[in-house]
Amino acid sequence: MKTSFYQYTLLELQQLFGQHKLPPSGPSKLFNWHYKKRQTEMCQVDVAKMSLVFLRSNLTFDLPEIDTVKLSEDKTVKFLFKLHDGQKVETVLIPFNGKYTVCLSSQVGCAMKCNFCFTGTQGLKRHLSTDEIVGQFLGAQKWLTQNRPEDDRVLNIVFMGQGEPLHNFDAVKNACEIFLSQHGLSIACHKITVSTAGYLPGLLRWKNEMPNVNLALSLHSPFNQKRNELIPLNQRYPLEEVLKVINEIPLDRKRFVTYEYLLAKDFNDSEEDAHATGKLLEGKEAYLNLIPFNPYPGDKYQRPSRESIINFKAVLDTYKIPTLIRVTKGDEILAACGQLNSLK
Ligand code: SAH
Repeated sequence: MKTSFYQYTLLELQQLFGQHKLPPSGPSKLFNWHYKKRQTEMCQVDVAKMSLVFLRSNLTFDLPEIDTVKLSEDKTVKFLFKLHDGQKVETVLIPFNGKYTVCLSSQVGCAMKCNFCFTGTQGLKRHLSTDEIVGQFLGAQKWLTQNRPEDDRVLNIVFMGQGEPLHNFDAVKNACEIFLSQHGLSIACHKITVSTAGYLPGLLRWKNEMPNVNLALSLHSPFNQKRNELIPLNQRYPLEEVLKVINEIPLDRKRFVTYEYLLAKDFNDSEEDAHATGKLLEGKEAYLNLIPFNPYPGDKYQRPSRESIINFKAVLDTYKIPTLIRVTKGDEILAACGQLNSLK
């Protein structure tokens, strides 16, 4: 069976070329044509004939098929991609000032079963391969260029779609390396964010193995008891252990860890919750992202009032923690945080 070109990091492609005694200049040229210039046919011009023959018989350049596209009033776009085995996965383009952030999925479904998340109700079907992750980016970018050529720039990549990215560490790491490659897409490392529910085995590998991309932790409560209820994974990997490992990850100047805080009415939105969160994050290189709960069919929680969200932020301000209230986008097409579900 042929493998996908998009499965290979530059280093792996160089190794493949080495094994088959193909000219070593090929991989960087291929990265250049396929990722940077996006002129997939043009590699014929400067890649050696024998390499092209090898590629034709061993690799495919197919992207995941777009099954459906949903458009929201606010210009959010939600894609349902169909994968080679019929599984489906969602990807979202989120507009911001005429540019986009692409929100990628890392798994079909998710094993974490967070009790506020629609994806969690799906269970885990399987991990995505590197090419299926990279393919979501390329597929979404291609759609933009064809349909919105006037504003087709994708500026940021966030792993906040379906799945727990650190549970699929190798594929996510390799996809990041492909996004970062200077010969390819050349995306800056601070434009890529990987968000985790606190999957400790992945966090332990982060320091030595992950390229220098941004880390986000879904915090949602400073209290283990509440966090256990929201994120069952916390029972196995409690918050203090997770934070200890995160604190050991070195940060470059002007870089920070993002803490995401889902605000659910009468559950974790009190002043006491806000003060405890402030104390927990005080003095850290931290940003806090407040995410008002996004409803979905069959949910358990409610979104707090605007006033209590603002009060929560006001408490955090007293601890000098930069706090942002995330604006909900694409919720009428179930494209906002926690609303992705490729079965329903
Ligand atoms: N598994 C990863 C990334 C996926 S979700 C993680 O847990 O971080 C991206 C963010 O959306 C997470 O912070 C997640 O907790 C949050 N989220 C999930 N369901 C939500 C909902 N219904 N409303 C608001 N945010 C939600």
